[in-house]
Amino acid sequence: MLIGVPKEIKNHEYRIGLTPAGARELTSQGHQVIVQRDGGKAIGLTNEMYEKAGAQIVDSAEEIFKRADMIIKVKEPQPVECAMLRPGQLLYTYLHLAPDPEQTKALVKSGATCIAYETVTDRKGGLPLLAPMSEVAGRMSIQAGAHALEKAQGGSGVLLGGVPGVKPAEVLVIGGGVVGINAARMAMGLNARVTILDRSLDRLKYLDELYGDKITTLYSTLDAIEELLPQSDLVIGAVLIPGAAAPKLVSRKQLGLMKPGSVLVDVAIDQGGCFETSKATTHQNPTYEVDGIIHYCVANMPGGVARTSTFALTNATLPYAVKLANKGPAAMLDDEHLLNGLNVHAGKVTYEAVAKDLGYDF
Ligand code: NAD
Repeated sequence: MLIGVPKEIKNHEYRIGLTPAGARELTSQGHQVIVQRDGGKAIGLTNEMYEKAGAQIVDSAEEIFKRADMIIKVKEPQPVECAMLRPGQLLYTYLHLAPDPEQTKALVKSGATCIAYETVTDRKGGLPLLAPMSEVAGRMSIQAGAHALEKAQGGSGVLLGGVPGVKPAEVLVIGGGVVGINAARMAMGLNARVTILDRSLDRLKYLDELYGDKITTLYSTLDAIEELLPQSDLVIGAVLIPGAAAPKLVSRKQLGLMKPGSVLVDVAIDQGGCFETSKATTHQNPTYEVDGIIHYCVANMPGGVARTSTFALTNATLPYAVKLANKGPAAMLDDEHLLNGLNVHAGKVTYEAVAKDLGYDF
C-alpha cells in the first residue's frame, strides 16, 4: 500500500501522524511511505530521518492526497484537505465528528473511508488511541499547576514538594481516570500530598491498591469537595462522563472557600470544563484569574509538548496502521475494535452516535 503523511495545517499543530520509526515498520513490510517535506521538522523529525527509514519526501500535500491509498494524520482534516480526499481512500486520524457537521458533510461527500482514532476501542472497553493524550495532559497538569503557583504567575507562592522543615502542598485531583492517575503520579513524584476523588468505587479501590497510604482516596460528593477546597493549593479537574458535557463540580461561590492564589487546572475543559468559572485558553495565554484563584484551562494541552505527544500517539496508532496497510479496509472485518473506529464509509456515516447527533441515516 502507498501511505501518505501530510504536514498538519491546523493552527499551532506541530505533531505528525507517523514517526520515522513508524515509517520504517511500514517500509520494512513492503509498503511505500510518502511524507510531506518538513512535516516533522518543528519537533526534530527531519526529512533525512524519514528518508533513512525508507520513506520518500514529497513537496506538497496535493501530491500526498493524490497518490496515497491511506492518509495518516493527527488532527481532523481541514476543509482544503477534505476536498482532496477521494472515494476508496483510507483516512486514519482524529475526527471528532459529532460537534462538526461541516467536516462530516465534507467527508461523506468525499466517498473516502474515514477511521477516527477517538472511537477505536480495546478489549477492556477503553479508548486506546485517546488514552495517550490523557496521559500527557495528566502529567502536564501538575507542571502547569506548579508553574501557576509561582508568585510571578499570580499564584500563592507555594512549592509543591515543600522543603525539609516546610510542609508540602496539597493537591486535589477530581476524577481518577487516565488523566487523574497520571496527575497523581506526578504530584506524588514531586512530594506533594495528594487526594483523589472519584465516583467509581472500583476505580478508588484500584488506586488504593496501587498507591496505598501515599494518597488519600475519597468518594466524590459536594461535601467532600467543599471540605477539601480550603486546604487545597492545586486542584486538577479530570472528570469524564463519556459522551456528555463535564459536570460542574466547583461553583464560583465555592472559589471563596479557597486560599488566594490557589490554582485550578481544568483538564476537562475540552468537554466544557468541570469548574463553573472555566473558559478555554491557549498555550499562548494559558491562565487567568477569577476572585483571586488562578485558572489554567488549555484545551489542547498535548500540543504544548508536541514531540512527546507525537511519540505517545504514534506508539498507539502504529499497530492499527500496519494492519490497515497489510489488509486494507478488510482489516476492520477481522478486528471489531478497529471497526468501531469507522465513522464514514463510501458516502455514509457509519458511527451511530455521530449519525444520530447530526441527523444521518444509520
Ligand atoms: P477517564 O474516563 O479515564 O476518567 C474520568 C474519571 O472521571 C472516571 O474515573 C470517572 O469515574 C470520573 N468521574 C466521573 N464523574 C465524576 C465526578 N462527579 N467526580 C469525580 N470523578 C468523576 O477520562 P480521562 O481520559 O482521564 O479524561 C478526563 C478528561 O480530560 C476528559 O474530559 C478528556 O477529554 C480530557 N482531556 C483533556 C485534554 C486537554 O488537552 N485539555 C487532553 C486529554 C484529555
